[in-house]
Parts: sequence; structure tokens; C-alpha cells
Amino acid sequence: MQVTQAYRFALDPTPRQERELHSHAGAARFAWNWGLAACLDRHDAEGKWWTGMELHRLWNRVKKTDPALGWWAENSKCVYQEAFRDLDRALREFVRARKGLRKGRRLGFPRFKKRGRCRDSFRFGSGVMRCSGLTVTLPRLGTIATHESTRKLARRLENGTARILSATVTRTAHRWFVSFTVHVDRDVPARHARPGSVVGVDLGVKTLLTGVDGLGTVIEVGGQKALRAALRRLQQLGKAHPRTRPGSANRAKAAGRLAQCHARVAAVRADALHKATSGLAARYETVVVEDLNVTGMLANRRLARAVSDQGFATARRMLEYKAGWNGGRMVVADRWFPSSKTCSGCGGRKPSLSLSERTFRCGACGLTLSRDVNAAINLRDLAASGAERRNACGGDVRPGPAGRPPTKQEPGTARVGKTGTAAAQAGAVRTADAHIRSQFG
Ligand SMILES: [Zn+2]
Repeated sequence: MQVTQAYRFALDPTPRQERELHSHAGAARFAWNWGLAACLDRHDAEGKWWTGMELHRLWNRVKKTDPALGWWAENSKCVYQEAFRDLDRALREFVRARKGLRKGRRLGFPRFKKRGRCRDSFRFGSGVMRCSGLTVTLPRLGTIATHESTRKLARRLENGTARILSATVTRTAHRWFVSFTVHVDRDVPARHARPGSVVGVDLGVKTLLTGVDGLGTVIEVGGQKALRAALRRLQQLGKAHPRTRPGSANRAKAAGRLAQCHARVAAVRADALHKATSGLAARYETVVVEDLNVTGMLANRRLARAVSDQGFATARRMLEYKAGWNGGRMVVADRWFPSSKTCSGCGGRKPSLSLSERTFRCGACGLTLSRDVNAAINLRDLAASGAERRNACGGDVRPGPAGRPPTKQEPGTARVGKTGTAAAQAGAVRTADAHIRSQFG
């Protein structure tokens, strides 16, 4: 099976390399802003934007003649091209969203990017991209040390089961990462190693993940010491930051520490989820999860932080592709399936169950059980009842128990124009948002 997969490694650049990484990120930002300004100008005059290709050609002409752009050659030419491609995609997605053709959260018009207020990121779409041992090699930047071993990808590159398509370099807090997008030839077994095995998985706020299998074994993820410690530190730093004077050096330092801690929490969580989902997909043929209306849940402000932190959608995506790689499948329960409100013992249903009730107590049969475990059992049993509505391998679609049409919403994956309001280029005073409001009403 051919799959497109990402391999992400933390980098350990030398000070000189770090300056080059910053320079490339700046170049990508400049190209984006330059392209966006050009698109807005053309839209004012002709009512349409430049495509990514056109921008690239325009840039190649201008960069040689304009002495103010003489610095462009300090960075890989790829970076500019990829920034134009990103902008092109952002504009297309914006139009699709306007026409209602796009799922997920509302998408605004691309914005100008501002240093320090947007993510440092750039991409190489061609050139020499390699990895071996504790190094990666990128166009222009050369060989950079990695913080972790690259052997998993290096081995695949060696034996020819993987091909690198592109490399994206990003910075999170103090650390730089490279993420290779890779075409991988995976050996997928025709059948799962343990046919007939099933596990129900409840994704929760208190516990990241609760699974119950056919034998009643409970798997819980989310209580690790590392995560608890990081969260405690996050709380301390979160209080320390606003106590510093705005604009002071200490505030900048506090912000840096806070960002670093956030990154650590995210990394610990992602690591725990990766390990747990890999284990589940390897051990169970069928993994049953709940269909969560993540966008809807995010609209509920009290839930929002907890939910987005836990990364429900991420966990589910992991389970889906990992189940596929192991010859298993993921089954998604209908969104209206009352996994939490149903008693896993007698099947009785509670009319309501508030989120604060962490223990499920059945009024009919007296069953007392952890809320998450009860939900996981109900999900597990759903696979046997055959009432599922969708599986990862494109199986039968069946109507849900409540007979509602299976609608599904997932948060948008493309994030466009994170921050920045002021137009940085071409002396434009207007913001892109104001511009587009005038165009589209
Ligand atoms: Zn009961």
C-alpha cells in the first residue's frame, strides 16, 4: 500500500545554522506578503488574483531588477516558490469556503504575516533532502544535526520503500523541527494478526483515552507523571507571566518559558497518544470510537480548552490510519449514539448525564462504573451489534440508531494567515480583511 506519511525530527542547529533558519523563515514570510500585496493590487484592477505559478514568474522577473530585493539569493529559491504555492492554496480555500464547499471551521481571507506574530515556517519542494543517523541534509542549509535518531526513515530510504516529497521546517517555542512528507510503500497484512479482536475507545477530557476490549481489560492513557508535572509547571508559568511588566525583558523571558512549557505539554501528549494508538491498532482488529462533533464542542467555551488540548481529532486520525496499516479497521459510532448515557450492564438509558458526573450509576440495575469505562464498553459492543455507520476501509454505511442522517464535521486542517493585521508591503494601509469585506460584502 502506498501512503503519504510525515516523519518529523527535532533539530539541533549550530548558531550559524539557526541564523540561516531564521533567514529562510523570514524569506518565506516576505514572499507571502509580497505575493498577497500583488494579488490585492491585481484584484483591485482586474478583479482576479495571481496564481502561484504566475507569482513565481513575476517574482523571478522582479527579483533580478529590483536592487531592494538583492538579498533574495541568501536563501534557497525553493522557499519563495513554496510560499507562493501556499498563498495560492489559501486563496483557493478561501473561495471554496465562501461558496460553502469547505468543511470545518470558518476560514478568513489570507492575512499579512508579521515577524514574531506568526509561525516561523518554510518548505523545500525539491533539491537534496536526505537523512542518516543523527543528521538531516536540506537544500542550501546543508547537513544539520538532529536531536533524535532518524533511523526509521533512513532505513526506508536505503531499502527504497520511501521517497521524500518535501521538507517543512518550523519553529515551536525554542526548537526547530523538520517534517518530511514521504511516499511510503507499506506492507499491509491482508488480515489482522488477531482476527475478531475488538476494543471500544472513549476519548475524554479527564483521561486522554479509555479503551475496553472483549475480555474487559481496561486501557487508560493520560495520567502519566510527565504530563502531570508539565501541567503543574504550566500553571505556575501561566501565573508568573502576567506579573511581569509589559514590554520588559523579563516579560519576554517569561513568555519564552511559557511557550516552551506549552510545547512540552503538547509533545508529551502527542507521544502518549502515538504510543497508545499504535498499541491499540496492533492488538485489535476493530477499534470503535465515537463520532465527535469537534467543531460544535469547540463552540462551547467551557469545554473548548480541554477539548482542543486533548486533540480528539488527532487521536482519531491516528487510530484510523494505524488500524489501516495493521489490516484492521476503525468503526465510527453514529454521533447520536448515547455511549455515555447508556448502562453497559442492562442497556437502560439515562435521560441526562452532566459532564461533571465522573461515575456512572445505573438507577435500574445498580451498576456503578467509571463514566469513561462505561462509554468504552458501549462502543465496543456496538461493533458486534452491527449498528455502526462507517469504517475506515469504506465499508457499509448504515443509518444510526436515531435515524438521523450521518453528518460529520471536522475542524479545518488548513490554517491560514494566523496573525498580523498591518499590511507590511507596498505601503498598503488597508488590511486584507477590510479589502475582502469590500469585495464580498
Ligand atoms: Zn443498568
